[in-house]
Amino acid sequence: MQKNIETYDFAGKKAIVRVDFNVPLNEKFEITDDTRMRAAVPTMKKVLEKGGALILMSHLGRPKKVDPQFSLKHILPHLEELLGVKVQFAEDCQKADEQAAALKAGEVLVLENLRYYAEEEGKPRGLKEDATDEEKKAAKAAVKESQKAFVKKLASYADCYINDAFGTAHRAHASTALIAKYFPEDKMFGYIMEGEIKAIDHVLKTPQHPVTAIIGGSKISSKIGIIEHLFDAVDNMIIGGGMVYTFKKAMGGKIGRSICEDDQMELALATLKKAEEKGVKLYLSNEVVVADAFSNDANTKVVSNMEIEDEWEGVDAAESTLKTWEEVIMSSKTILWNGPVGVFEIPAFAKGTKAVARMLAAATEKGAFTLVGGGDSVAAVTQMGFADKVSYVSTGGGAMLEYLEGIELPGIAAIKE
Ligand code: AMP
Repeated sequence: MQKNIETYDFAGKKAIVRVDFNVPLNEKFEITDDTRMRAAVPTMKKVLEKGGALILMSHLGRPKKVDPQFSLKHILPHLEELLGVKVQFAEDCQKADEQAAALKAGEVLVLENLRYYAEEEGKPRGLKEDATDEEKKAAKAAVKESQKAFVKKLASYADCYINDAFGTAHRAHASTALIAKYFPEDKMFGYIMEGEIKAIDHVLKTPQHPVTAIIGGSKISSKIGIIEHLFDAVDNMIIGGGMVYTFKKAMGGKIGRSICEDDQMELALATLKKAEEKGVKLYLSNEVVVADAFSNDANTKVVSNMEIEDEWEGVDAAESTLKTWEEVIMSSKTILWNGPVGVFEIPAFAKGTKAVARMLAAATEKGAFTLVGGGDSVAAVTQMGFADKVSYVSTGGGAMLEYLEGIELPGIAAIKE
């Protein structure tokens, strides 16, 4: 049965915690953004304050074998700073028996990068390029088999399990899901997981209306699952960014060189119909900023979305479109935002995305519940200094998207079941 970190008695117990310390490092192996580590501090401190010991496990990067570049050793000094205690390190996550056994209340042990082992993900490695289906199947079965011992070993170090890595909750990995079964009475979410689940559930299940979703990004194909699932929860949906052009072309518009998924046009038309059936008011940008090149010093002008000339491409939402969106956003009580509404990476085309970030901060101040998720939207609110001016910033990109699509995430299910 699922337990609660707030009420669980950690005194004299060892908690193995799946954290997300997958932080970006520069060429000197210095952390360039410690957001994920800082986010995990409340959970880690709770265990220590309540007399427990911590065994922390995480992945870092995508190593396919032992590779010092991806060692969690790099993050130890900063972790010590954040926790204010000395941290021990196990160079091999499968050989930490003695260190784990000797761990006392208030002490912290970090296990080396779990992904040094194929068993963490449960996917075979080193397959020959010309491997037959038969060979692939056998390799998969072998790693699944050895994964059992891998999980068991990790579980053997501790008395309870905490999952606080929302960013990997959509993966059924050893440390994110499989390990939970060894702690049927002693498993729980950390504060990040709890916060993420609560924020998304609030938007999907218990929101104050009107509810508005702003969905941006480049492709319909990657967002269609969310768009359709959200139709059941929202009153308004603003669709921005590159995927608008697929809709506009499908509607008979001229989109010039704008990004378009020709094979998704039928789906786009079906989506428009579905929105109508569900009573969701859709806002696609009407006027857009077009550019004659994909660069910061390109020539730009504002045109109708249905009439983009041949050599031009849509790169950002125009003022008039932003004004319409602002009215919708400012009269909403619950707002979810995922995905940039323009080519945010190029400063000249980032105005629309920044404006949306500003609108969300203003709506929050007016009392709306605002949830921002996805790399670019989070970067936009953070860069503008609005990260603490919105109600919740989700740290889990892919996991948040899957959760919004209504998919049961293995990392969540493993704790709840
Ligand atoms: P996604 O990963 O699907 O959320 O999409 C994010 C990407 O969409 C970013 O890299 C943006 O640059 C891109 N994007 C947004 N608007 C446009 C546009 N009008 N044309 C091309 N790419 C865009």
